[in-house]
Amino acid sequence: METEQKLDTLQSQFPEVSKDVLLELLVAFDGSVKQTKLMLEEQFGPREIKTEIKTEIKTEIKGKFSGIKRKADSGTTANEYCSLTKKRTFPQRQTSFKVSKASANISTTLYNKEQIESMVPYLRFYPNFLPNSLADSLLDELLSKRATFKDKMFHIAGNECHSNHQSTVFYDGDIPKQRYDNGFYHNSKYMAQSFTGNIRTAKFLIEDQANEVLATTKRHPLQVQSEWRASLCVGNYFHTNKNNLDWHSDRLTTIGPLPLICSLTLGATRIFRIRKQYGESPIYNIPLPHNSLLLMLPGTQEEFKHCVPSLGNSLVARHPKANETRINLTLRMSRPHLLNNTPFCPVCKSAMTLRRMFKKPASRGYYFWLCDGGYHSGKECPGFYFANLSDIEKPHAKLYTRDVKHATRWLAEDDHEAKTATEFHMEDVKD
Ligand SMILES: [Zn+2]
Repeated sequence: METEQKLDTLQSQFPEVSKDVLLELLVAFDGSVKQTKLMLEEQFGPREIKTEIKTEIKTEIKGKFSGIKRKADSGTTANEYCSLTKKRTFPQRQTSFKVSKASANISTTLYNKEQIESMVPYLRFYPNFLPNSLADSLLDELLSKRATFKDKMFHIAGNECHSNHQSTVFYDGDIPKQRYDNGFYHNSKYMAQSFTGNIRTAKFLIEDQANEVLATTKRHPLQVQSEWRASLCVGNYFHTNKNNLDWHSDRLTTIGPLPLICSLTLGATRIFRIRKQYGESPIYNIPLPHNSLLLMLPGTQEEFKHCVPSLGNSLVARHPKANETRINLTLRMSRPHLLNNTPFCPVCKSAMTLRRMFKKPASRGYYFWLCDGGYHSGKECPGFYFANLSDIEKPHAKLYTRDVKHATRWLAEDDHEAKTATEFHMEDVKD
C-alpha cells in the first residue's frame, strides 16, 4: 500500500485525527497501519465495530480500568500468584478500596518526547538512545541470559507470592554484601551478577545524559550531592505480553530519597503507565520502544506510581528478533551510608524499609521507616520510626526519630494542598 492510501485508510477510521498527526504516527511505526491503528485505538477507542455492541465494549473497558485500580490497592495482581496457601482472594483489609470513577477511567496516551515531558515534567524521554549496534548486542546478550532472571518472591498477608515477570540485579564491580532491597526476599541471592561490558558501555552514555539533565535542575539537599553514577542495574524480563509489573513506586531503602532512575527498554514496545500516588490523577500511557531511554527524575518515586500492564493492547509492537519479549534495564545509584545506617526494627530486629507518606495532605511528605519483617517472613510486625535524613551523607548517623518534629519531609513544589494543610494524621503510615 502507498503511504497516501494508508493515510486514507486511517483517516476513514479516525476522522477526528488530523492527517499530519496520522503521518507522524505512521512514520513512527515504520509504515505499519496495524500498529498505528493499535496506538490510536488506545487513545480514541476501538474502531470498525457495529454500533449496537459499542456500549458493551465501553463497559468492558471501564471494567478493565476499575480492575486495575483494585489491583493497585491490593498490592498485587491476579496474574501474580501466591503459592503456599493457594488462596485466590485477598483478605478484607487488602480489598477495602474505593474506586474513583474519574481517576479510574481517564487515560491518555503520550506519543512523543514533547507530550511526555510536558504532561509529566518529572520524566525525560530519549528515543533511539544508544548506538543501534550496542542496543542490538545488549538485547542479544540479555535474551541469552534469560535463565538468570528470577521470580521476585514476597509475602502479602501471610501468603508467599511470586511476581509475574522475572528480575535480576547487575552490580558495577563485585557483588556487595548488602544487596539491593526491592522486596526480593530470599531470591535476591540468586539474582546478583556483575555488570557486563555492554552494560558498562551503556552506563557511561546514560550517566552523561543523566548528569546533563541534573545540571539544569535545582539539587535538593536530600539528593545525591556528587555526580550521578549508576552503581547497580535492576533488569526486568517480560517474556510475553502476559507478563506484567503491577502498580508500584520503587523502594527507597538502597537508593535513598529523591532518587534518579534511568530506564532503558530493549525488544518489544510495551505500554508503561504512570499516575500520581494520590488524588484524582489521570493515567498516562507511554509506549516505550526498543532502545528508548526514560529518565525518572528525583521526586518521581515520591509523587507517582507506575506499572507495565498486560492488557490486550499493551503490546504495541513486536521486535523483529525478540518478538513479544521486552527487557528493561533500570540504572540506579546506591547510597552506601544510608544502607550502613538503616535502623533495625525496635520490635523484631528486622531491617526496616524507607518510605514516604502521601495519602493525607497534612502528613504527606514525611519519610518513615517501616519494619520489613512481614514482607520477608509473612508475620506482620508494627515496627515504625519517623526518618530523620539530615545526616544522610555522613558515614555514621542516627537516621530515625520517634518525634514527628524531627522527621524529614519533602513536598512537591506544586503540592499546595499539603503545604496549607495543618492537622497531622498517622493513619496513612501503611501502604
Ligand atoms: Zn519488626
